[in-house]
Parts: sequence; C-alpha cells; structure tokens
Amino acid sequence: MNYEYEIPISGFPDPVAVAKEYEILGTLACPACNEKLLRMRMQYALEPEPGSNWSYPISGDKLECQCEHCGHKVEVTFKFTISGK
Ligand SMILES: [Zn+2]
Repeated sequence: MNYEYEIPISGFPDPVAVAKEYEILGTLACPACNEKLLRMRMQYALEPEPGSNWSYPISGDKLECQCEHCGHKVEVTFKFTISGK
C-alpha cells in the first residue's frame, strides 16, 4: 500500500513544501504494524508529465520509506499543485 498527497506550492523551490512533506510523513502509520515509525530512505524528484503545462522542473517528490518497527516498505508520493490563484 502506498500513499499519495497533493502539496500546494507558491513557487519553486518552495521550502514550505519540504516541511509539509515531513509533517505528513510524521503522521503516517505503517500499514503493516500501525506504528508511526516510517523513516525516509530515498527521495526522488518527479518530472512533469510530458505535455503537461506544469511550468517548474519538478512536479513532486517520491519518498521511499521503511518502517523502523517491522521493516515494511512504503512509497509516499507528493504531487505539487499551485496554491492560491
Ligand atoms: Zn511497521
């Protein structure tokens, strides 16, 4: 089971977006053991879909996380959206 969230950003790079990602990560429980001990192992930048009108070089982040309690691996995807306007 993987998680996906939308993060509103006001520009790029947006340091608030990174803080939000970690905030959300801190609230996620492991789907296998239900402990809130998911830790990020790897982070990938998502490139915009070809043909999309996304105007920044990165359209989101994908975090590979692992539960420190049971070792379960989870992918958490954050898709950026434009906030305001
Ligand atoms: Zn676990």
